[in-house]
Amino acid sequence: MTASDGRPEGGGNGIDGDSNGGDRGRSERSGRDTSNGAHGGDGGSSRNGFASVGGGRGFGTRCVHAGTAPDPTTGARVPPLYQTTSYTFEDTEEAAALYALEAEGDVYSRISNPTLAALERRLTDLEGGTGALATASGMAALDCATLVLAAAGDNVVSASSIYGGTHAYLSHTAARRGIDARFVDTLDYGAYEDAIDEDTAYVHIETIGNPSLVTPDVERVAEVAHAAGVPLFVDNTFATPALCRPFEHGADLVWESTTKWLHGSGTTVGGALIDGGTFPWAEYGEKYSEVCANPAFGGLDFTERFGDRAFVEAARQRGVRSLGGAQSPFDAWQTLQGMETLHLRTERHAENALAVAEFLEGHPAVAWVSYPGLESHETHANAERYLEGGFGGMIAVGLEGGYEAGKRLCEETELASFLANVGDAKTLVIHPASTTHAQMSEADQRASGVTPDLVRLSIGIEDVADIVADLDRVLEEKR
Ligand code: PLP
Repeated sequence: MTASDGRPEGGGNGIDGDSNGGDRGRSERSGRDTSNGAHGGDGGSSRNGFASVGGGRGFGTRCVHAGTAPDPTTGARVPPLYQTTSYTFEDTEEAAALYALEAEGDVYSRISNPTLAALERRLTDLEGGTGALATASGMAALDCATLVLAAAGDNVVSASSIYGGTHAYLSHTAARRGIDARFVDTLDYGAYEDAIDEDTAYVHIETIGNPSLVTPDVERVAEVAHAAGVPLFVDNTFATPALCRPFEHGADLVWESTTKWLHGSGTTVGGALIDGGTFPWAEYGEKYSEVCANPAFGGLDFTERFGDRAFVEAARQRGVRSLGGAQSPFDAWQTLQGMETLHLRTERHAENALAVAEFLEGHPAVAWVSYPGLESHETHANAERYLEGGFGGMIAVGLEGGYEAGKRLCEETELASFLANVGDAKTLVIHPASTTHAQMSEADQRASGVTPDLVRLSIGIEDVADIVADLDRVLEEKR
């Protein structure tokens, strides 16, 4: 199924997965085969409006099937849960080859696992990448990528309109390892250019900023990054591949919190790194030594060994293997199931969110509403250009009563749950200035698009009339 360098030979059908079981052949067991139609494909659009990015099958079909196939030993239709730490070696030769990365296969589940591999294939397929790595959380994916790309003395240039946890990671966690965080105005493309220098490890943006919901001009940021020889690293959590596939717009690497819409039911924390296979690491070999001449593997050049999935394999062998941030097999198994309905949920989230945004826009207790699908939204044009099939499930809203009214809205809704997550089937509400972004200075909050009055709504897939009635009751009481 795979060429000697581990890369797929030609495209698949977007459905077949690794057989994973029964067969003692390492190539079958490895689970890191990407011959599931992640590459190539004939483009085109499926009936639901989502573009087809691989193998010719529609996005919805691939949400259900990509990366998995019936178990060849038992006939089990659902991918088995491989709850194991380790995998027996045939002999010492095979063991040595696996440790030296000369052969591919599972050794220990902190590095790889067949259940995670199924999830990784599905994510690779949906994003249109060359390989993926499932991690314990979104933050673990960010940490793995940063470990591989940046060393002490380097810097990261990031849009300001990002998740508070990412802001804190870059400013306080990466900083402890000598990495300098340079935040720029998300929509000021000259500012990215000015901030990048020869020590810039990567440029970072979110497709839809949390919680500002700003969508930058992804292609423009990619051009700026590439002109300086730097990869563009995109957090696609709020869009998911159902709405946006950043690799189609110049991104080199994508990360996601699968905790949100990808899983969709709020039971499971997880994350992923996806490799676009596009960045020419070898041209910058000295700077990206973890990818090009890995010191932990006797100078092994991952670009020669793994081809267009060099980055994600470096993240596996140097990131999760050393940092311990692998996802648990059970969590991957759960997320695979959740992803089967991603395309359907995405439609309903977006439909409901647009209706709720329109209702809020007309309510006298509301000072302002931000939803990428509204013409009034500051980056509506970018959202129209980069998001397909809807504008997502998130709304930011400011009440006339300001900070206090925002906090009270969170306490007084009944259907909407007041909690930290987003992307659940259930409607969720939070007040970022007093919670998710509270550890940031007010100036940094403002730069991230967090105003004191902002309330973040993650609109669920309930009947929209019930969501509106819940909000309306609280807003009417506030007047
Ligand atoms: N990226 C965004 C946009 C998020 O909203 C979050 C979490 O809320 C993360 C990344 C981090 O993901 P996780 O909570 O899975 O670590």
